[in-house]
Amino acid sequence: MRVVLLGAPGSGKGTQAKILAKQYGMAQISIGAILRAAVEEGSALGKQAKPYMDSGQLVPDDVVLGLLRDHLASEDTDNGFILNGFPRNVIQAEELDTILNELRQPLHGALLIDVGVDALIQRLTGRQTCRSCGQMYNLYTDPSKLFDRCDQCGGDLRQRTDDNEETIGNRLRIFESVTTPLLNYFKEQGKLRTIQGVGEINDIAAAVSKELKTLPSEESLQAELDKLSKGDVTLEDLERKVLESLQNALGNVNKEVIEPADEALKKAEKVVTKEAGKLSKKVAKAAKKEAKVLKKEARAIKKKVTKAAKKEVKVLKKEAKAIKKKVTKAAKKEVKVLKKEAKAIKKKVTKAVKDIKKKVTKKTAAKKKPTTKKVAAKKATTKKKSAAKKTATRKKTASKKKVAKKKTTTKKK
Ligand code: AMP
Repeated sequence: MRVVLLGAPGSGKGTQAKILAKQYGMAQISIGAILRAAVEEGSALGKQAKPYMDSGQLVPDDVVLGLLRDHLASEDTDNGFILNGFPRNVIQAEELDTILNELRQPLHGALLIDVGVDALIQRLTGRQTCRSCGQMYNLYTDPSKLFDRCDQCGGDLRQRTDDNEETIGNRLRIFESVTTPLLNYFKEQGKLRTIQGVGEINDIAAAVSKELKTLPSEESLQAELDKLSKGDVTLEDLERKVLESLQNALGNVNKEVIEPADEALKKAEKVVTKEAGKLSKKVAKAAKKEAKVLKKEARAIKKKVTKAAKKEVKVLKKEAKAIKKKVTKAAKKEVKVLKKEAKAIKKKVTKAVKDIKKKVTKKTAAKKKPTTKKVAAKKATTKKKSAAKKTATRKKTASKKKVAKKKTTTKKK
């Protein structure tokens, strides 16, 4: 198999390239690694490439294409090869096709390892590589147990000089801007396969292997080359090719856009349903809790009110009792006084009645039988009265006569 691995910096191309190389016995060519080695050596190539690499820019096409040619010629590519991080733009892709067709080793396919930007940044800023064996680690997600040494060979762990935030930003921007036309280039050939690059490394490797099986066969590629070299490409061939690439493009749209969108929609629906369920459960739970609290409060209030009412009733009863006692006492006193008064009145009345009765009896008795003494006394009284009367009359007459005599004497004078 001859494949290229595409993906943003930090997408895991290096890791997957290593696994594939081991699995299928393919040669692994990483232009980035070759350039880094040249920079470390301080060779002319390294000196030329360094400023581009340090700023996250692409090294000029003619430099990398020369490197690629040399390596394709020198590496053992009988079992195929994996190009890691090459091509980076359409010009490099077209050149690659030309070189490979000349070598009669046409490309089977292009594998894109797709990873979101946030994960890429975390991977790049934490990335560490062993200087001796090339084993990779990540400070955040997969750190070495020996801290700054390799767990496998004890070698020094180094962070790439271009794995700093500023350069990372540049590299990601460049990848974004040149990737779309590059992906279209392979899509049109029906050779692009996309693999999600997030998750377990082995799962991603399994997905890569699965996609490899869907790439065009060696026979069909060689037949195509034959036709091209003979120049006997018929109109039907061209039509078929266009149709094939259209179908592939449609398939890709389906696979890369519609299916993930459907999947995302289903997931979102599931999440919404679940969340809604959780929410109603939560609401019901909260309502129950609230009801419980309110009931408890109501019970407490009822208890308090009952207690207060009982206390009040007790006080009122006590007061009523006291009032009753007072009233009873006062009433008793009053009754006593009244009884006493009544007794006194009764006594007086009884006495008065008795006296009256006595007097009446006495008078009646006196009327019935007058005594001789009384009669004699009465007679004497009557006699006395008439004697006095006679005396008074005599005196009166005498004084009258005296007055008259006096008057006459005076007149005569
Ligand atoms: P990589 O290890 O693939 O991330 O590459 C590291 C750096 O090497 C990049 O930022 C570029 O400066 C340079 N480089 C690697 N491959 C290419 C390429 N195909 N074309 C141009 N520059 C490249």
